[in-house]
Amino acid sequence: MEPLVLYVLDLASGAAPDLALRRVPARETVLTATDLSATRGDGVFETVLVVDGTPQALEEHLDRFARSAALLDLPDPRRDLWRHAVLTAAAELGTLRPRAAIKFVLSRGDEAGDGAGTGWLLGFAPSAPPAAPPAPIDVVLLDRGYRHDVAQTSPWLLQGAKTLSYAVNMAALREARRRGAQDVVFVSSDGFVLEGPTSTLIVRIDGGYLTPPPDLGILPGTTQADVFAALRGWGEQVATRRLTVPDLLGADAVWLCSSTRGAAAVRSIDGTEFAVDDVLTERLRDHLDARRK
Ligand code: PLP
Repeated sequence: MEPLVLYVLDLASGAAPDLALRRVPARETVLTATDLSATRGDGVFETVLVVDGTPQALEEHLDRFARSAALLDLPDPRRDLWRHAVLTAAAELGTLRPRAAIKFVLSRGDEAGDGAGTGWLLGFAPSAPPAAPPAPIDVVLLDRGYRHDVAQTSPWLLQGAKTLSYAVNMAALREARRRGAQDVVFVSSDGFVLEGPTSTLIVRIDGGYLTPPPDLGILPGTTQADVFAALRGWGEQVATRRLTVPDLLGADAVWLCSSTRGAAAVRSIDGTEFAVDDVLTERLRDHLDARRK
């Protein structure tokens, strides 16, 4: 990724949004070596796509940010502050790139700090702009090692929160590459299909579109929500329900969705091949880029 703009938030003072936001050079060091984001991965984040200076699905990202913070017992992020910060960074990004992204982060802060946390936003361009149309991907199934009800039985495992602790997700992607694939779908230890390490799963079965429910300890995807809204508007059936591995492998078509990637068609899962619906994939990608909301 190429860092383009960087802002730091003053979370302690309670200042008005414009006064609490400080622009710094994009490669400035903004963390102490004792910040709990660096030492323990203790914080939450969101990554928002920015098209022509407009952050896509901003309110949904802010909703999820607040939910993640609550799951970690972090101070409730001030919505006015974070919204203003993202809009400011996005407007600046729009002058630099037609398509970019913002990662915004709330960490628990410095170990010796005041408890208000550390906040920053990085606007960046992905290192390799996505090919158009992107190649369909090969996926492997990996056991996440938790039952489907982990979020209810063991909330301290933080499944369903978008925490900074993504080392496991990155390890899963490396395992996929070792197996000759490009991505992963996690499966619960009792056989329910979950999500990718950085994406939400959508499948087409008998002409209807399905995605697994967030109560399985997975993230509610902002991209998946907008894909479903589009499909509904085009007269398609959509539903959220639990899927087993045989359900998935018997699907007509499969996609992985995320903010920076949009909708990516899946070509195979553990060697089982799927039809790739180029026309729908392209239509979804165009729709996602044109959201402006
Ligand atoms: N699930 C996980 C674990 C993710 O990390 C992400 C995004 O990074 C998603 C799903 C997709 O979420 P969104 O579409 O809101 O980017």
